[in-house]
Amino acid sequence: MKELADEGVVLRTYSSGEADRVVVLWTKHSGKVRLLARGVRRTSSRMGGALEPLARVKVDAVQSRGALYVTRHVAHVERYETIRTDYERILAGLSVIEAIDAIPLDDFADAELYELLIRVLRTLDDPSFSPALVAPAFFARLLVHDGVAPELFACAQCASEGPLVAFHAPSGGALCGGCRTGRVISAEALALARRMLGGDLAGVLRESHPAGETEITLLLTEAVEDHLGRRLKSARAALESTTTRTVR
Ligand SMILES: [Zn+2]
Repeated sequence: MKELADEGVVLRTYSSGEADRVVVLWTKHSGKVRLLARGVRRTSSRMGGALEPLARVKVDAVQSRGALYVTRHVAHVERYETIRTDYERILAGLSVIEAIDAIPLDDFADAELYELLIRVLRTLDDPSFSPALVAPAFFARLLVHDGVAPELFACAQCASEGPLVAFHAPSGGALCGGCRTGRVISAEALALARRMLGGDLAGVLRESHPAGETEITLLLTEAVEDHLGRRLKSARAALESTTTRTVR
């Protein structure tokens, strides 16, 4: 019987049988695994609370039928209390783990990406950082990690310096007037994206709604959806609430 002793972040859960739950956990060393948590939907269960999406847990489990592990012990590593008290932070966190969940990671460990996820969750849990651009910044980092970083400093098609007036992820990033396709990008949004990817992310996240925020959120959400081949529900909901706030 294969044993699992690892730590991971809960990506999502679903009900199984009367009182059980299956937990999709992205672990540091074993990739994405599915854990059967017996009896957790009973109110008396002490394991239940630790197995909510976004929780970082240490888990001890044994493999049973197929690819499913049966959970023996679960304990919190980090609780991210600040994230849990703020709807915008929850939505940002869910957007990040939804993107992780869209990557085919079964039995595939990626310690570098795991560490990035932990840093992102800690940033989101830090009240001194604005949550709005945390998920879009993660999407950008994910594109970089996967070797498809969007070009922001020269036209992605003809390499001219620009001015760069459009953005189209499938074409490689920002585009000049001659090559333009996709969406229009403002100078503010382009400058913001350059700061986010160029080492000033912490500075950006300390600002409250910098110019170009909504625009860059949309562009990076579309870029990562295009890359993953899936629409991200939570990221779209976050975008919706941002747009509403801007219009108001
Ligand atoms: Zn061009």
